[in-house]
Amino acid sequence: MNVQGKLRRIDHHYVIEHRVREARVYFQGVRVDSIDAQQALSVVDSYLSSANRRARKVFFSNVHSIHLTRNDKELQWCINEADLVLPDGTGLKIAGRIQGHPIVENLNGTDFIPKVLARAEQQRWSVYLFGARPGVVEHCCSRLQMNYPKLNIVGHHHGHIHESEEPSVIEDINAKTPKILLVALGSPLQEKWIARNASNLNVGVCFAVGGLFDFLSGEYQRAPVWVRRFGAESLYRFTQDPRSKWQRIFVEQPLFLLLVFAARIIPWRAVDFITRTYRDK
Ligand code: UDP
Repeated sequence: MNVQGKLRRIDHHYVIEHRVREARVYFQGVRVDSIDAQQALSVVDSYLSSANRRARKVFFSNVHSIHLTRNDKELQWCINEADLVLPDGTGLKIAGRIQGHPIVENLNGTDFIPKVLARAEQQRWSVYLFGARPGVVEHCCSRLQMNYPKLNIVGHHHGHIHESEEPSVIEDINAKTPKILLVALGSPLQEKWIARNASNLNVGVCFAVGGLFDFLSGEYQRAPVWVRRFGAESLYRFTQDPRSKWQRIFVEQPLFLLLVFAARIIPWRAVDFITRTYRDK
């Protein structure tokens, strides 16, 4: 590429990074970049065509991760320091309206990552899957290979590993040099794992994708389209796995919206006092 081409590329990266910075919104101290799917795909494109070889970190903020940050400042730091933080869930959309910072599009990983994979197939970007239970991740790979026949899946590893096995997983990932690494360990493990290891990873972009492999493998069913359109997918997830998801629906969502609403009508110091009281209980 000639000098002018290089300058144009640097200019393009600069414009995209600037756009993401402009779209930054905070909910209870946690960052969300309010952009749409098209813009998010251009950002991923720009990361993968950048001359800067560092592994980029793309996370999804949702009510659950924001709730976890109340007692976990390391998680809050990891999310706020990521390269891109996409908005996931209806809770954030409602909060955006209350707070006066509209969320442009609900970009949950289960809808957005297939778009990235379609692009990966087209652009021949290689992919590595890390996370979920043994068996589930293999099943997920075969389903992906059926849906995206030309997708180059260079490796996979389940996520139920002991700390001592971590170096060998990283070694395997680095040996396969994927452009895209999908990490499905659930929050806060996945965000911390990526933040801790990004500088040692020989990959283009790491996505923290939560329970994505469980859905893609067919282990869990997604909500019917009309339920998703209605913005009630988390309610549907609760019906499938009530034991581990009840708190998200009945405690985290109402508390989050209550605090967003409270912040609108009473001074922030008072809200901070309430959150701290809740946290210190
Ligand atoms: N998981 C994992 N290793 C762990 C803990 C969890 O691979 O040590 C996987 C788990 O099997 C599941 C995913 O992480 O596939 C978490 O799913 P969940 O729906 O809880 O995540 P969320 O999307 O809510 O963050």
